[in-house]
Order: sequence, then structure tokens, then C-alpha cells
Amino acid sequence: MPVSSLYVHVPFCPSVCPYCDFHKMLRHEGLAARYVARLAQELAALAEEHGGPLETLYLGGGTPSHLRDDELERVFAALAGFGGPARLETTLEADPLTFDAERLTRFASLGVTRLSIGLQSTQDHVLAFLGRLHDGAQGLAAVEAALSSGLRVNVDVMTSIAGQDLELDLSRVVAVGARHVSVYSLTVEPHTPFALRGVTVDEDLDAAAFDLTATVLARAGLRRYEVSNHAVPGEESRHNLVYWRGGHYLGAGPSASSHLPGGDGFGVRLKNPPLKGWLRGDPPEADVLTADDVVLERLMTGLRTVEGVDLAGLEASTGYAVEYGAARWLDDCLAHGLLTLEGRRLTATPAGLARLDAVLRAFVATRAPAATAAA
Ligand code: SF4
Repeated sequence: MPVSSLYVHVPFCPSVCPYCDFHKMLRHEGLAARYVARLAQELAALAEEHGGPLETLYLGGGTPSHLRDDELERVFAALAGFGGPARLETTLEADPLTFDAERLTRFASLGVTRLSIGLQSTQDHVLAFLGRLHDGAQGLAAVEAALSSGLRVNVDVMTSIAGQDLELDLSRVVAVGARHVSVYSLTVEPHTPFALRGVTVDEDLDAAAFDLTATVLARAGLRRYEVSNHAVPGEESRHNLVYWRGGHYLGAGPSASSHLPGGDGFGVRLKNPPLKGWLRGDPPEADVLTADDVVLERLMTGLRTVEGVDLAGLEASTGYAVEYGAARWLDDCLAHGLLTLEGRRLTATPAGLARLDAVLRAFVATRAPAATAAA
């Protein structure tokens, strides 16, 4: 099967948020020019090796909309080797202050079909705490402008922040017409400014936010189709579904990952170096996957989704039968109402979704390795 999904990492942001541990930085003109030139080279090489057409393309970061028009034009021109932007879906991550109606038209003319907007909150005190540059009114106006432009739109909302009225945030987002909302808890990653300041997240607040999110968004017709993602049916992110279904994809840009067929038959993961090494042309790190890696990754990503994991398909591709290799784990999870098994389709219940990390830790601690787990 040709690889037909591509992720492009753009590491530049208008400001650096104090909770963020992604590979990102403020832009400098010289650096941005070198980035675009190197990216064009990398995209041409990937297109030559893998061909096209692309089905899904995702420009993430960082803040891709922080690239200037001429830079974005150059990036999209470099996709010519794939036959242009993706046929099904081309997503651009965008900061609310980086576009207006005219720019939205330009995005669409480049081939962008979907905008993912980093709104995070509609409340000024929450946005100030998160170090965002926009205020609530500017953020909502940006979402409205994007929706009126005819692009498909995702809105990112952050939860579990002390002093936030989450119901108000989510209600405002659906009131302006959002049909896809990604909702992430604030997490305090090591070495970030928030970690150094001793910011903490209240676990009870976090658990309440998970339930409240599903309730408020379901009222507006958006169902949780992945642990953090909610959409009106048909509006799901096709690109992200490739990740969650264990599909193959290419990655371009600093720190971008690829998941490709090959290796010992179970696939290979490649990870590009961060900006400095990537600009030098240093090669990606390669990780040849084993059957055990694939089984764990499929459970980690598949159980995040409402469609779950097809254990028959997993056994066909890895030789690993979860019912044998992890029988005790499976029985425990079924007995505690964390997972359900219909035929051989394994899905997480709402209770299981809320405790997914613990469910997966228990799998890792108790499973038999692949070589001993064939049915
Ligand atoms: S805009 Fe996004 S990628 Fe950039 S610093 Fe903030 S959270 Fe990180």
C-alpha cells in the first residue's frame, strides 16, 4: 500500500506558551528562510521516494499559520511531487491572531480544507494564565471567520485550569457553530515554565472536566470519537484517524515522525532530528518495530477511539492473540467494566477511557510477549 498521509512540522510560534513542550521556537527571518528551503528539499525527496497522491496532509507545529504567505506558497509548491495538497483533507494549524478573511481565502486557494484553531479558552483570565496573545473575543471572532469562509474547522480547548468555567467555554464554542472540538487537559510537563513555577493540576477537576466535556458537546450533537476529540458525525479528522488506526504516514520537518511499512515486517518508525540537525541534513533515527511494539501501539491508539481495536486484524498482522497473551488483563478489564469485547472488537467503555493510562500500564505489566502468545 502506498503511504498517502503526510505530516509537516512547522516549529515557529508567535509566542512561547509556558506549558508547551513541543518542538517550537520564536521565528527569526533567516531561520525561517532556511527552514522553508530545507523543507522544500525534504518534500521533494519524499515525493520521489514514495510518490502520491496524498489522501491527508496535516501542517502542525508550532504554528504553521505563523509562516508568511510567500513561505506557505513555497511549502505548498514543494508538494507538487505528490500531485499537490491532499485529496481528502488538508489541515493547517492556526493561531487566532494570524489570519483574517483575506488570509483564509489565500489558505483555501493553496489547497487547505480544514483549519485547526488554537483557541484554548474564551475567558480572558484563563488565556492570560496560559500566556496566549489573543483575548476571548478575538479568539471567537477568529473561529467565526474561519467557519464563514467555508473551511472545515477544529477548535482546541484546554481544560482543568483553576478558575476556568469550562461549560461556558464549550458552550460559546458550539454556539458559534464549531463542529469539531479537541479538548485537552492542561498537563504540566517537566522543565516547562509552568513546572518551574510549581503549577499543578487538580485531579478531581480534571476528572470532572472529562465528563462535563462529553455532556456539553453531546448536547450540541458532537460525539466523543476519540478520547480528546469530538465531532458532528462526518466531521472527524481523517488524518488523525490514520494515526489512531495504526496506519502509515510520512513526516517532514524538524522532529517529525514517520510510520512506514518494512523493517522485519512490522514497520519502521523514523524520527527527524530537531531543527539544528535537521537543517544540517542529519538522518532520522530509525526504530524497527517488533510484533510486541505493534500490539501495544494498536491498543494505545485504538482504545482511544470509539471504534476500538479489531483483535482479529491485529492477530493477522502480528500473530498475537490478545485473548491468549493477555488473558488475565482482558478478564479483569471486562469484569471491571473498563473494556467491552463484541466478537473480537475490543473497545474502551467511558470508564475505561477516563482511566486509559492505567488500563494500558496494566497490559504492559501482565502481558506475555508475542513469541509465546499465538493462539
Ligand atoms: S502556540 Fe502551540 S506550539 Fe506554540 S508554544 Fe503555544 S502551545 Fe506550543
